[in-house]
Amino acid sequence: IAVPAVPNRGASRPKSWCQLCGTGMDSPSPLPTLIRKKRDGERLEDAEIRSFVRGVTEGTAQQGQIGAMLMAIRLRGMDAGETLALSRAMATSGRTLAWPPAWHGLVVDKHSTGGVGDKVSLALAPALAACGCKVPMISGRGLGHTGGTLDKLEAVPGFRVSLSPEEMCSTLERVGCCIVGQSEELAPADRVLYGLRDVTATVDSVPLITASILSKKAAEQLSALVLDVKFGGAALYPTQDSARELARSLVEVGTQLGIRTVAVLSRMDQPLGRAVGNSLEVLEALECLDGGGPPDLRELVTALGGVLLWQCGKAAGAAQGRELLGRALDDGSARSTFEAMLGAQGVPPDTAHRLCSGTPAQRRRLLGTAKVCEELPAP
Ligand code: URA
Repeated sequence: IAVPAVPNRGASRPKSWCQLCGTGMDSPSPLPTLIRKKRDGERLEDAEIRSFVRGVTEGTAQQGQIGAMLMAIRLRGMDAGETLALSRAMATSGRTLAWPPAWHGLVVDKHSTGGVGDKVSLALAPALAACGCKVPMISGRGLGHTGGTLDKLEAVPGFRVSLSPEEMCSTLERVGCCIVGQSEELAPADRVLYGLRDVTATVDSVPLITASILSKKAAEQLSALVLDVKFGGAALYPTQDSARELARSLVEVGTQLGIRTVAVLSRMDQPLGRAVGNSLEVLEALECLDGGGPPDLRELVTALGGVLLWQCGKAAGAAQGRELLGRALDDGSARSTFEAMLGAQGVPPDTAHRLCSGTPAQRRRLLGTAKVCEELPAP
């Protein structure tokens, strides 16, 4: 990945430091000037974008300033060059991962723009690993009304979403996949911006979504990426045309970051599968890993995985990739990999085993049930 060397956290600070605006005096302009520029619809230069991201990462930018810049970007937009610069600056706000040469071409990932009941990653990451890929998935928490993969996994007792890059590498070596969150070390700028977008009504912005997703993926040093861009009543973008615009931005910037990027548009007018809620979604992902589960979930898991197996040369085409993926779900290898991943990420081995091999009732007992249960019959 052609990521330029950008000063990181811990890099030497500018000699003089403005206490008022929170920017280094050697930065292009003080942050309020950059906010004003974007507010008035002007283009930000690469160095200005890097300066903003540095302020976010180092904690020198005030929350109000970050929120104002997010809103200015949400309202005024960014062109492709600005979006690429923002993605790069966010990717290099922390460490970028490095993999053994033997994994060349095999490091892949999937990311979704978010939906309701979307538990695809829980089944797909281990299924891809069972097919011989390496999947260092950096995922997110709930954003807006959409659920977060990390929140779902934390329903499993003991699951740790925070692994160091070294722990990620050894987990990929032994298991083939891991699912972690942004951290102080990995895409720290996205960690801050992601949380603030959620509370400033700035989630649905093409450049902000593009940079958020691709900064994490560029930090992973991927070979291939498939993006599930959702449209419909329960997605961030309601229409297929608006989702296509986001997909174009993601593919364009992903490709410029050196990642083979494919986007799939998928409908999100109703929850995926039948379960919504963290532990319920883990249970449904386990059904999919048993080779069963709702057909729409299995279809999306195999379609997205099939594209990736094709992209990384494990299958001659997407159709063959889909078949291979389906086989990994049916023969139990994906479920065994999920069990190993849970163990590697802090779940006691006995719990991981009982969860993966137990009956639905045993699984429910392990994950716990809600204190209040109410039936809402649909006519
Ligand atoms: N997923 C992300 O990681 N970021 C977004 O902005 C939307 C979905």
